Amino acid sequence: MISSHPVHPRGLRARVLLSSVFGPYAQNDEYGSRTINPMELYHNQVTRVQGGFSLRMFHRSFGLMMIQANIEAPCTLLDFPSLDRFVSEIRNHSYDIIGISAILPNIGKVREMCWLIRQYQPGATIVVGGHIAGKEDIAGRIDADYICRGEGIRWFRRFLGQDEHGPTRHPRVHSGFGARILGVTLPMRPGNTAAMLIPSVGCPVGCNFCSTSALFGGKGKSIHFYETGDQLFEVMVGLEKDLEVKSFFVMDENFLLHRQRALRLLELMEANGKSWALFVFSSARVLQSYTMDELVGLGVSWVWMGLEGEDNAYQKLKNVNTVALVKNLQSHGIRVLGSSIIGLENHTPENMSRVIDYAVSHDTDFHQFMLYTPIPGTPLYEEHRKAGTLLPEDEFPLADTHGQYRFNYRHRHIDGGREENYLLDAFRRDFEVNGPSLARLTRTFLKGWQRYKDHPNRRIRDRFAWEVKPLRTVYAGAVWAMRKWYEKDRRMWEMMDSLLKELYGTFGFFTRVAAPLTGLYLFRTLKSEEKRLARGWTWEPDPVCEKNEAALALEAAAPARRAPGERSLPLTALGYRTASK
Ligand code: SF4
Repeated sequence: MISSHPVHPRGLRARVLLSSVFGPYAQNDEYGSRTINPMELYHNQVTRVQGGFSLRMFHRSFGLMMIQANIEAPCTLLDFPSLDRFVSEIRNHSYDIIGISAILPNIGKVREMCWLIRQYQPGATIVVGGHIAGKEDIAGRIDADYICRGEGIRWFRRFLGQDEHGPTRHPRVHSGFGARILGVTLPMRPGNTAAMLIPSVGCPVGCNFCSTSALFGGKGKSIHFYETGDQLFEVMVGLEKDLEVKSFFVMDENFLLHRQRALRLLELMEANGKSWALFVFSSARVLQSYTMDELVGLGVSWVWMGLEGEDNAYQKLKNVNTVALVKNLQSHGIRVLGSSIIGLENHTPENMSRVIDYAVSHDTDFHQFMLYTPIPGTPLYEEHRKAGTLLPEDEFPLADTHGQYRFNYRHRHIDGGREENYLLDAFRRDFEVNGPSLARLTRTFLKGWQRYKDHPNRRIRDRFAWEVKPLRTVYAGAVWAMRKWYEKDRRMWEMMDSLLKELYGTFGFFTRVAAPLTGLYLFRTLKSEEKRLARGWTWEPDPVCEKNEAALALEAAAPARRAPGERSLPLTALGYRTASK
């Protein structure tokens, strides 16, 4: 069979640069950055209105990291470059292949980066991938040589003439960095940040709006980097040792769906006495198909689950009482991030208040709200494209297609312009009724501890013990600060007061002493943070530059021209910076 896949003439000798799009991100600019679309997953679409209580955190470009870890050619990875930093890289270093990963709202940045590459590196082959590749006419809109649709490791291996079926090496990286809450940036210490774990990509459930599922083949399809529980366990042991972690953020759209793999992992954890914690994404029916003993035994400590909306037509939610499911999970110490959609087909101005009330009634630890948005590549997009209901770009720029602002189509019942208020209303009501997510997750942690602290299985007892350790001091202090913050809000004050009393009752004298001391400090940092936010303060990640071994060897043989003070890093180098406006 003749392969139509392109192959680069230099093969494994080709010098590769992989880059994310340039920042800054949390500002309005001509390239498509938007203030309401910062490079922070939680603050962007989960704790958006929680002010100083919002969880701020950055996440690396994991797709690029996976590609870099799995190609043998010399490869440099640039994450979150400024425009100047990107230009400096392509001015001062020679590359044969430059890959850019992006989502569709960043099309303006990708166009600019392609243009710059043609100026400074006219001989380089440009490959563009990520969610932007789902746009049907992307090839005609940017000056790229190739569009990589779907999974990038195999694509690059084939392009470089490498065996595409070789084993997948997992990069060593923490799930997030620069974590900040109540005005305090949390230190990166061994053991307090989860490792990123990517067992598979895609989701065979294939919901009509799901761009991640669509990107990797859609309904019925997914790609497993690690097919068996044994393979996954081996990767996790390696991450545990190299990153000194006990928890794993499992970046797999529907991790528990691969039941055989998950249950084999449970067996191995049990046999090897691993008290690990897993943060997973899972659809509700799949989650419900496991016993609580299995979930707790697997260390499932946090779950991101689609609730979508009442009376929705999704099979994954059929016959599931999500309110009861969330409550049950929390009673076993499992924190829940529920995800609801604003603007489903049956949503109208008349029923919107009920829609929001229903979502809020789940009282999840975190709640994501997104507008029902047709993303290119998804069945929902195709439906609107055929119906002619997508808005033209002069009316709705692609840079705004991120699901936190407006519909990119004409909604059947909701007039354009009203949806942003509905979305903000949902975030606000969830915050006002259920309080800061920090308090909610503290309550769930506490329930887990109370239930499992005397569990006969030592492995399970140990996991809850190490997970709740900070509750005795830092979290209790945070609840003390939140109670003080809500002095003039009787209902919220009582909520915090009762939680604090429960913490005191559970952990005793030491916590009673520690909470006011830590709490006073956190109350002050919270006040300062609120003032900073009122001044329009934003938070940006610093650029990261990493080279694989082949690139470091190449550089050692022929040092490149560098800006003063600039150096290459073989390991993950994390940074962040602030920007005032
Ligand atoms: S279950 Fe979740 S991940 Fe899977 S297709 Fe549906 S929305 Fe996407």
